[in-house]
Amino acid sequence: MPVYRNIGDFLEFINISNEEATLFEWKPQKSFKRFDLDLNVVKENPVSDIFFHRDKGNMKLAYIRRNNLIYTVGADNKVQFQLLEALLEHVSFKFHEMYDVEIIMSYEDFNPAMFNGFKQVLVNIIINFANLDLVKRIQVECRVCKKVLTLFVKKSMIENADSYPVPIVYVHEGHAILCFIDQNFHHRGVELVNITG
Ligand SMILES: [Zn+2]
Repeated sequence: MPVYRNIGDFLEFINISNEEATLFEWKPQKSFKRFDLDLNVVKENPVSDIFFHRDKGNMKLAYIRRNNLIYTVGADNKVQFQLLEALLEHVSFKFHEMYDVEIIMSYEDFNPAMFNGFKQVLVNIIINFANLDLVKRIQVECRVCKKVLTLFVKKSMIENADSYPVPIVYVHEGHAILCFIDQNFHHRGVELVNITG
């Protein structure tokens, strides 16, 4: 699973912002791309604690507003959204573990450079992502593709579910399958579903 093992090769940026400004941003070395327009769109979404996705054709975005901060990741389309969500969840956890963000931001001389120390933490997360045990790989059969596909699910999604099995829609190649995942991360059925939106 090259994408999973080398997720850093497929990432465009990771951004942590509040309403006013970027507090922290990581980009691959030698990337000079800017994502201000995307981040402005993301900030317009007032909903907290729910992951949102945007598919931009050449790039996909996953983002979440949490504790008044907005976490966004941009990645190559090959990366499944569940991997990006798992990454952002871990990034937000580590950011808050390292910093008392509200207190730091209340300093009179506050400057986003105060979060620069997070860069090394984030690089380590990216490098070790596959060893952090944040996601499970599940093999599902798609009767349209006539192939066994690898579906990634966040462990947190299953562990924090209200009931089982947990449904997840896997959109791929212009169609979608609905998979039901049990507590033990086994799939309990796969159906072809219609899509709109
Ligand atoms: Zn298929």
